Amino acid sequence: MANPSLLILAGDGIGPEVMAEVKKIIDWMRARRGVTFDVTEDLVGGCAYDKHGVPLHDDTMAKAQEVDAVLLGAVGGPKYDSLDFSVKPERGLLRLRKEMDLFSNLRPAQCFDALADFSSLKKEVVAGLDIVIVRELTSGVYFGEPRGIFVEGNERVGINTQRYTESEIARVARSAFELARKRGNKVCSMEKANVMESGILWRDVVQEIHDKEYPDVQLSHMYADAGAMQLTRWPKQFDVIVTDNLFGDLLSDLAAMLTGSLGMLPSASLGAPMANGRPKALYEPVHGSAPDIAGTGKANPIACILSFAMALRYSFDMGEDAARVEAAVEKVLADGLRTADLMGPEGGTPVSTTQMGDAIVAALDAGL
Ligand code: NAD
Repeated sequence: MANPSLLILAGDGIGPEVMAEVKKIIDWMRARRGVTFDVTEDLVGGCAYDKHGVPLHDDTMAKAQEVDAVLLGAVGGPKYDSLDFSVKPERGLLRLRKEMDLFSNLRPAQCFDALADFSSLKKEVVAGLDIVIVRELTSGVYFGEPRGIFVEGNERVGINTQRYTESEIARVARSAFELARKRGNKVCSMEKANVMESGILWRDVVQEIHDKEYPDVQLSHMYADAGAMQLTRWPKQFDVIVTDNLFGDLLSDLAAMLTGSLGMLPSASLGAPMANGRPKALYEPVHGSAPDIAGTGKANPIACILSFAMALRYSFDMGEDAARVEAAVEKVLADGLRTADLMGPEGGTPVSTTQMGDAIVAALDAGL
C-alpha cells in the first residue's frame, strides 16, 4: 500500500519554526512506529510571493489537491502589509480553502489539566474539557447574494444574505456525525430556528440526516444564543457542536478561548471524500505568523503539533498515534514545561520552541 502523503506548507514568521518541531514527530513516527509519510514541502504566503510573485503557485495548488493531507504553519507579516489585496499572503490560504472546497471547519477546545488555571473560567468548569465545534465554512451569510452597500432613498443600506441549501447543510451535518462517532457519539446542532427560516431548514435537515444515516448518534438542538450561554456555563455537557458559518465563527472563538493560549489551538478544515475515501483536508494552528516573536525561539509549537495529531486521527485513521501525541503534550505540560506564552504570574524559566519539541518527542519515546 502507498505511504500516506503530506504536503507541508510552513509559510511565514513562526510557521517554519513550529513546523520544524512537527517534522521531529514525523521522523519519530518513521523510526519508532514504522510509519513513513511521503512528505513534500512547498511555499505559501509571503515566502511564495517573494519567489513567484503570487501567494500560492498553481503547482502548489495542484499538489495540495493530490495529497492525503496538507499541513500549514502560518502566513503573513508586516513586510507584506502594503501589497495589493489580490496577492496578500492570506490570499494563498483562502485559495487553498476555496479550491479544495473545505466546507467543514473543526475547532477543538481541549483543556489540558496543567493549564486549567489559564482559563478565565473557574478551573472545575474547564479542567478536562474536550469538545469540537464544527463550523460550516463555505456558505451562509459571508457568501450569500445579494450583498453590498446600496442607496435607498436618501440613506445607505448594508445587505448580507443568509442562504443555505439542503445539500450544504447535509454535508456538514454528516461531517459532524462522522466525527462524533470517533469521539463521544453526541452532536448538538445550533441555529436560530426561532427567528430565521434558514435556521428552520438547518434544524430539519440535520434531524433528517440523523434519523436516516446516524440514528446511533445522540442528537440535540439548541438556539445559538442559548448555546453561547451554555458554553460558558458548563461546556463539558457538549461533545461535538455543529453550526453555520456565522455562529460557528463566534462560538468557535469563544470555545477555544475557554482553554487559554493561542499557541495551543489546532484546527482542521475538511472537504468531500476523495477516491481513497479520506476527506480533502487542511490542518493548521489557529494562530498567525506572530511576527513579534518570529526568530526569537519563543513560539509555542503545540498548536501545530496538535494539528498534526488531528491529521493522524482524521486523515490517516491513526487515532492511537494521535492519542500518543496528545498524551505526550499533556505529559510535558504536567511536568511543568512552558513556552513563554504559557508562563503564569508566578514566573519561572520558559523553554524554547525546540526544547518544547524535543521534550514532546522524549515523552513519546517514554510512552512506548
Ligand atoms: P498572531 O496569531 O500571529 O499573534 C497574536 C499574538 O499571539 C502575538 O502576540 C503572538 O506573539 C502570539 N502568538 C501567536 N502564536 C503564538 C505561538 N505559537 N506561540 C506563542 N505566541 C504566539 O496574530 P496577529 O499578530 O494578529 O497577526 C500576525 C500576522 O499573521 C498577520 O500578518 C496576520 O494577517 C497573520 N495571520 C495569519 C493567520 C494564518 O496564517 N492562519 C491567522 C491569523 C493571522
